[in-house]
Amino acid sequence: MERAFDCDVLIAGAGPIGVTLAVLLAKRGVKVIVAEKEAAIYPLPRAAHIDHEGMRILQEAGASDAIMAVGRPPT
Ligand SMILES: Cc1cc2nc3c(=O)[nH]c(=O)nc-3n(C[C@H](O)[C@H](O)[C@H](O)COP(=O)(O)OP(=O)(O)OC[C@H]3O[C@@H](n4cnc5c(N)ncnc54)[C@H](O)[C@@H]3O)c2cc1C
Repeated sequence: MERAFDCDVLIAGAGPIGVTLAVLLAKRGVKVIVAEKEAAIYPLPRAAHIDHEGMRILQEAGASDAIMAVGRPPT
C-alpha cells in the first residue's frame, strides 16, 4: 500500500523556485512534496517585476494568463 508521504522528489522550501519546480515536475507526472518551514506566506510582495525568462517559465507552469490578467507590460 502506498504511504501518504511517498514521493519521487522532496523539495525543501516553498519559495518561488521550490513551488515552480514542484509545478513543473508534477506536470510531468513526478510525485512531489514541498516542505516549508514557515507557517505563513512572506508578507511583502516579491514579484513586482518579472523578466521575460521568468514569464517563459511561468507560461510553462500554466500561470502566465493569470499573471497577465493582473499585470501590466512595461512600455
Ligand atoms: C521585498 C522583496 C521584493 C522583491 N521583489 C522582486 C521582484 O519584484 N521581482 C523578482 O524577480 N524578485 C524579487 N525579489 C527577489 C525574490 O523574492 C527572490 O529572488 C526569490 O524569492 C528567491 O526564490 P527562492 O525560492 O530561491 O528562495 P526564497 O524565496 O528565499 O524561498 C526559500 C524558502 O525555503 C524555506 N526554507 C529555508 N530553509 C528551509 C528548510 N530547512 N526547510 C524547509 N523550508 C526551508 C524558506 O522559509 C523560504 O520560504 C524580491 C525580494 C524581496 C525581499
